[in-house]
Amino acid sequence: MNRLIIATNNQGKVREIKAILGGFYDEILSLKDAGIDVDVVEDGTTFHENAAKKAIEISKMIEGDVLADDSGLCVDALNGAPGIYSARFSGEGADDQKNNDKLLSLIKNESNRKARFVCALVLANGGREKLYVEDYAEGEIIDEPRGENGFGYDPLFYVKEYEQTFAEIPAETKNVISHRAKALDTLKKEVEKL
Ligand code: IMP
Repeated sequence: MNRLIIATNNQGKVREIKAILGGFYDEILSLKDAGIDVDVVEDGTTFHENAAKKAIEISKMIEGDVLADDSGLCVDALNGAPGIYSARFSGEGADDQKNNDKLLSLIKNESNRKARFVCALVLANGGREKLYVEDYAEGEIIDEPRGENGFGYDPLFYVKEYEQTFAEIPAETKNVISHRAKALDTLKKEVEKL
């Protein structure tokens, strides 16, 4: 029995990953579905380290493959911040609104608005890293939030090619062009080779 545990309880991510990797596994489960309740501390210094730590630690507890991801926004004018600190950028009690407000206040006087979303994915088995991939989505940070879709920094992340932010682009499109979608697609190609 070929089983994949996804190291997240985010149902959106679980759905996305099942849709892409469904053909390669007999069963794909979230941590909760698998009855695993762990909170791996994300204390790495890179997206790769954080994803690897989660995947490796959990793969020691179960049979089968474990897939973990770590993602965030890197802004050039802020030397790559918020980066791995994206979820907790505004400190204690951070939420999307506070994180976006902090980003806007820091970038207010910057003319270089280039930014990218990054997604690292690690597949582990028996405490060892089996595969690692990382991919990006390029964009610019605008001065005011636009759009209602998505989550996190999406309303501030403008993609020139579409003349829309990630929060204005329909979910079906974001699910093709996003950092996570691209990384999952690369992972799928690597899994096919295993
Ligand atoms: P995590 O990888 O789920 O821990 O996400 C880290 C943080 O990065 C999230 O809380 C968001 O703030 C940000 N982030 C990651 N991916 C996206 C995205 O697709 N849109 C908006 N924000 C994102």
